[in-house]
Amino acid sequence: MIVGGVTVSRATLHNEDEIKRLGVKIGDTVIVERAGDVIPAVTRVMKELRSGKEKDFVFPKICPACLTRLSKPKDEIIWRCPNPDCQAQKREFLYHFASKKAFDIKGLGPKIIDQLINENLISQPADFFGLEEGDLIVLDRFGQKSAANLVSAIRYSKKVDLNRFIYALGIRHVGEETAIALAQRFDTIKKLQEAAGQTRQSLSDMGVEVSKSIRHWFNNKKNVKMVDDLLEAGIKILLPEKITRRSELNGKTFVITGILDSITRAEAHEKIRLSGGHPLAVVSKKTDYLVVGQNPSSKLEKARKLGIKIINEAVFLRMLVDV
Ligand SMILES: [Zn+2]
Repeated sequence: MIVGGVTVSRATLHNEDEIKRLGVKIGDTVIVERAGDVIPAVTRVMKELRSGKEKDFVFPKICPACLTRLSKPKDEIIWRCPNPDCQAQKREFLYHFASKKAFDIKGLGPKIIDQLINENLISQPADFFGLEEGDLIVLDRFGQKSAANLVSAIRYSKKVDLNRFIYALGIRHVGEETAIALAQRFDTIKKLQEAAGQTRQSLSDMGVEVSKSIRHWFNNKKNVKMVDDLLEAGIKILLPEKITRRSELNGKTFVITGILDSITRAEAHEKIRLSGGHPLAVVSKKTDYLVVGQNPSSKLEKARKLGIKIINEAVFLRMLVDV
């Protein structure tokens, strides 16, 4: 299917509420729209094209992994398994912990984590850091070399930035950006933990939902123990580079287009943030700088028309270094 000049094989229905609102059934013919760069969405059902064979969506009421009845708080839209010992959730949490934006343990993906769980080699994050080559060699498709590589990747990941450490904990509503803000504000995980144990005000500027979620998370003794176990396993948390208030980049907005040679888009965004600037996705009158890499998009044309300062990668990197 081609939508807006792009071939589309899937479109989002978002969630159960949206499916109910649209009245969509399995087998329906639907209208799909694509707005900006976002994933195409189903916007309307062509009820006049129904054959009568369409079926209603049936949502599970119990967790397929642990058979606990699912729950959904009034103000939320996602059904969740409330069982803290649910094996499927533990598994997902370990995937998240090792993932790129968290501890970024190279070569430790879901397939290997599954094997490690099945062999009872790990049950919580701190266990990753006790793995030895001998443990890994018994796993499928592991040789001496790959085992040694994984052990050294794990060892390498023991030094971790505070924001990644916070993100890795999997606290609900604490995504990448919030984790960065928390790291800038609290400097150490202990300070964050103390703030979580204090009055409501101590975290109030992070927003009600985030603050509630963090307090709730640290209130759970199991979570606190998990943090302690990680520190005991030899995790070294690196202090966040402080935003320099005098920085020339402070408050400046950056948009990147095209591919940069020396750093990824995500790394560039992180550097901008650490320098006090704001990375944005779309060029507008408010953009201060457009950073141009290889194969720039129409953003370049737009920036020219708006008279925005256009810089190349080298200039961009020099600006960051000078901070
Ligand atoms: Zn479950």
